[in-house]
Amino acid sequence: MRPLTRIARGDRDRVEDPYRASSPPIYQTATFAQQSAESFGEFDYSRSGNPTRANLERAVATLENASHGLAFGSGMAALAAVTRLVRPGERIVASTDLYGGAYRLLSEIVEPQGVTVEYVDLDQLEIARRALSKPARLVLFESPTNPLHRVIDTRAISTLAKRAGARVAVDNTMLSPYRQRPLDLGADLVVHSATKFLSGHADLTAGLVLTNDPVIAERLEFILNAEGTGLAPFEAWLLQRGLRTLGVRMDRQEANTRVIAEFLAAQPWVRRVNYAGLPGSPGHELLIAQATGAGSVLAFETGDYETSRRFVEALELFSITVSFGSVCSLASLPCRMSHASIPESVRNRRQLPEDLVRLSIGIEDANDLLDDLSRAASIALRETEHATDCADLASV
Ligand SMILES: *Cc1c(COP(=O)(O)O)cnc(C)c1O
Repeated sequence: MRPLTRIARGDRDRVEDPYRASSPPIYQTATFAQQSAESFGEFDYSRSGNPTRANLERAVATLENASHGLAFGSGMAALAAVTRLVRPGERIVASTDLYGGAYRLLSEIVEPQGVTVEYVDLDQLEIARRALSKPARLVLFESPTNPLHRVIDTRAISTLAKRAGARVAVDNTMLSPYRQRPLDLGADLVVHSATKFLSGHADLTAGLVLTNDPVIAERLEFILNAEGTGLAPFEAWLLQRGLRTLGVRMDRQEANTRVIAEFLAAQPWVRRVNYAGLPGSPGHELLIAQATGAGSVLAFETGDYETSRRFVEALELFSITVSFGSVCSLASLPCRMSHASIPESVRNRRQLPEDLVRLSIGIEDANDLLDDLSRAASIALRETEHATDCADLASV
C-alpha cells in the first residue's frame, strides 16, 4: 500500500472486536483480569501495556518501516528513555541546532549523571567526521533542524556513527514518516513528539520511539514500564484518530507553506527565510534526496527584535503559540518561547538570532494567511519606524 492509504486505514487488525466497529474501541482500563493465578494474558496492567496503546504503536511503526514502536506520555519522555541507553562515562554526540527541551534534558539531567555530551554542527560533514573519530554511544539530531532548517545527511552520519560504535537516533518530529523515514536511511532509532504533526490538532501530548532492533526495543520497553512513562489509553486513541489524516493535512500545510515562504522571501523587510523547501536554499538538494517534502515550519529574520515582536503581536489568524504541526497556523519567537531553555550565550553560539520569527502553517486558505502577514507587517513597520523617530528626537 502507498503511504496515503496506509495512513488513512491505520492498523485495524490489532484490536479484536466482535462488533467490528469502524473506529477501534478504546480500552480505558488500568487492569486486565487473568485466566488464573498462573496463566496470564497479553495484558495485565496499563502502565506495562494496553491494547489501545499497542494499536497506536503498531500503526506508527508501520509508517516508519519499523518492527517495534513504543508510545510515551510526551516527546520528552520518549527522548529521555533513549538517553537512558547511554551509561555514565559514555559519550553522546548531539547536533548543535536542537529542540530547546532536548538541550535542557541533555545539559541539566544527562550530563550531571556523568555522560559526556558534545554539541556538533552535524550538517558540516568534516566536523561530524572529526567528532565521530572517537568512540560514542549515541548520535542525536533532527533534520531539518528547528528553527534554522539545516539539513543533516542521515546516511552519511549513520555510516560515521557505526564506525564510532554509536547508535543513531533521529528526531523526525519536523517531517513525520509521511515525508521522511530515517530508519530506511540507516538510523537505528526514530523519535517523535507526536504532539506535533502525528496528532495534528494540538489536543494531546505524546511521544514515540521506533526501531528495528529487538534488543533496543526490549530495553526501551523495560524503561517505559519501570519509569511509568507510557502513553495513557485515551491519548493513544485520540492520537490514532489524528494520525488517519496525517497525509492530507501535510499535503495541504506544505502547499500553503510554499506560498508563504515565497511571499516572505520577496519582502524587502525580510532579511532571510529559513525553509529548506525553497529551491536554492542551503539544504534543498540534500532534503529532496532524503525526504519527500519540507514540512510546514519556517523561520525568518526581520533584522530587528522590536519589529519581530510587533509583527507577531499584530497577527490575528496566527496565534502566538509554541509547538507546530497543528491544522491552525501559529507564530512564535523561538528565543523567547520554545528555545528559551537554551542559555543566551549558547543561543548566540548556535546563531539563533533574537529577531527570528517562526511560523507553523496550517490548513487555512493561503490567501487569508497572506493577508494577515501583510497587515501585521505594515503595523509592525509603521510602529517601529515611529519608535525610531522618537529615539532620534530624544537624542537631539
Ligand atoms: C516538541 C518537540 C519535542 C518535545 O516533545 P513534547 O511532546 O513537547 O514533549 C522534541 N523534539 C522536537 C523536535 C519537538 O519539536
